[in-house]
Amino acid sequence: MPTNNQLTQVSSRGTGNSWCRAPLDRQIQLNNQTITLEEVARFLALIKCDARVVVPNRMTKQRWGVARISRNEVVLYRCSVWVFLHEVAHMLTPGCGHGPKFGEKLDALQMVWQVVEAAGMV
Ligand SMILES: [Zn+2]
Repeated sequence: MPTNNQLTQVSSRGTGNSWCRAPLDRQIQLNNQTITLEEVARFLALIKCDARVVVPNRMTKQRWGVARISRNEVVLYRCSVWVFLHEVAHMLTPGCGHGPKFGEKLDALQMVWQVVEAAGMV
């Protein structure tokens, strides 16, 4: 896992989720919250998603994550909760871009994350 000392975001730029209704401060909070591969694995098991998650050594400033749907694979360049949930939402809404279905899925995943985190399950 790369270190995530640079996870700081104070504006909405780069969140890429215009259809998501989660409050902006919540998006930013989750975007600044690091996630480990153990947490990733536990969360995916809970939502019964069998996607593989890859964290490359090479980091990029241009992209924070990619959902490779045909490979059933999520690539995290930035190991934040928000980027992870964003890419998982893509995996679960193939072909929907950042449209309303994607936004609803991301909202739902954010709420699930809140519940499982509060329950100490991630
Ligand atoms: Zn996206």
